[in-house]
Amino acid sequence: MKPFEFKLECQCRQTGARVGQFHTPHGVVHTPRFMPVGTLANVKTVTPAQLKDCKAEMILANTYHLHIQPGEDIVAEAGGLHKFMNWQQPILTDSGGFQVFSLSDIRSITDEGVKFRSPRDGQMINLTPEKSIQIQNQLGADVIMAFDECAPYPATYDQIRQASDRTTRWLERCLKAHARPADQALFGIVQGGVFLDLRKKSASELVQFDLPGYAIGGVSVGEPPELIAKIVRAATPLLPENKPRYLMGIGTHREMAQAVAAGIDLFDCVIPTRLGRHGMAIMTVDGKSDRWNLKNNRFKRDYSALDASCPCYTCQNFSRAYLSHLFRSQEVLAFTLLAIHNITELIRFTQRMRDAILGDRFVEEFGHFLTDFSHDSDPDLHKHL
Ligand SMILES: [Zn+2]
Repeated sequence: MKPFEFKLECQCRQTGARVGQFHTPHGVVHTPRFMPVGTLANVKTVTPAQLKDCKAEMILANTYHLHIQPGEDIVAEAGGLHKFMNWQQPILTDSGGFQVFSLSDIRSITDEGVKFRSPRDGQMINLTPEKSIQIQNQLGADVIMAFDECAPYPATYDQIRQASDRTTRWLERCLKAHARPADQALFGIVQGGVFLDLRKKSASELVQFDLPGYAIGGVSVGEPPELIAKIVRAATPLLPENKPRYLMGIGTHREMAQAVAAGIDLFDCVIPTRLGRHGMAIMTVDGKSDRWNLKNNRFKRDYSALDASCPCYTCQNFSRAYLSHLFRSQEVLAFTLLAIHNITELIRFTQRMRDAILGDRFVEEFGHFLTDFSHDSDPDLHKHL
C-alpha cells in the first residue's frame, strides 16, 4: 500500500456515505473518523496513552500556535511533532489560515500573504503560503494543509469570491514550496463561504491539482448550521471518490451525520475537550444527541456510571456523583475524565456510522439526524481556537 492511498471499502446505497481506509506513514485512519484537536502539540488535559485508549487514530495540531510557541525550529530539533509529543500515529497540521483570520490583529492581507502582530510579543509576523508550508514541513505531520484565506461570516459575494480565488492562487504556491511530498500529503481547502456556486468553482479548481486529499474549510464561522450541510452537499460531488474528504472544524453528532451522508470522511473539533472543561458531557441517549451539565444538582447523589454503555476509562470507573463533585471543586482531574469520555463518545459515534454503512443500516440508524436542523446552533461551540 502506497503512503496516502485512500481505499474505498464500501458505499451506502441510499446516501453518499462511505467507509474507507486512509493510509499514512504513521498508520491507517479508518473513516469516517473524528480527529481530536491538539492545538499546542497536546490534546488538552489528556495524555497520548489515554488518547490511544479513546481509539483516536489521527489527531490535529495547530501551525499558528506552534509557530508562536515553541517555534517550528524547536519541534524540528526535537525530531518532529510525532517524537516531540510522543504520538506515533497519524498527525494533521492546519495551515494557520483559520487562526490568523479569526484570532490575530491583522495588519494587511495581500496576494503576498498576511501580516499580523504576534499575540505573544507583539512582533510583526508575515505568514505567506511559502512560510506556512515551510513551518508545516518542519513540524513533520503526515497531512499538511494549504494556506487559505478564510473570509468571515457574513461577507459579501465579492469578498468571498476574492478570498476563494486567492486561496486557489495560494495553493499553487503551497505546492511549489512543499519540500516533503513523499512523506507529507498536502490537502487543498475548498472555500466559497455560503455561496454554493463559489463553493463549486473552488472545488473544481482544486481538483485540477490532483491532490492526495481535499478539505472543506470556512464553515462553522457563525453561519446557520443548516447551511453547513448545503455547502457540503454542493462541494463534495465535485471531489474525486478515491481521495479522503475532510470537513474542518465540525464535531457535533448531527453535523457529522449529515456530512457523512454527503460523503465526508474526516472531522475535527475542539468541543470534546472544551465542553469537558466546562463540565459538559457529550452523550447519546436513545440514539439522540444530548449534553449534560455535571454541575447540575440532579447528579450530586447519582452513583451510576456516566454512560454504562460507554467503554471509556471514565464511564467504566467513576460515578456521576464523583464527577459532579470534582467539577464543583474545580479539580483538574475533572477536565481529564470528562475529556476522555467526550473524545471517546465522538470517535465511537463515527465508528458506529462506519459499522452501520458496512452493514447497510446507515439510514435506518442515523436517518433522524439527517432531517432535523433545530439543534446544534450554538455558535460559540464552533470556534476552533
Ligand atoms: Zn465514557
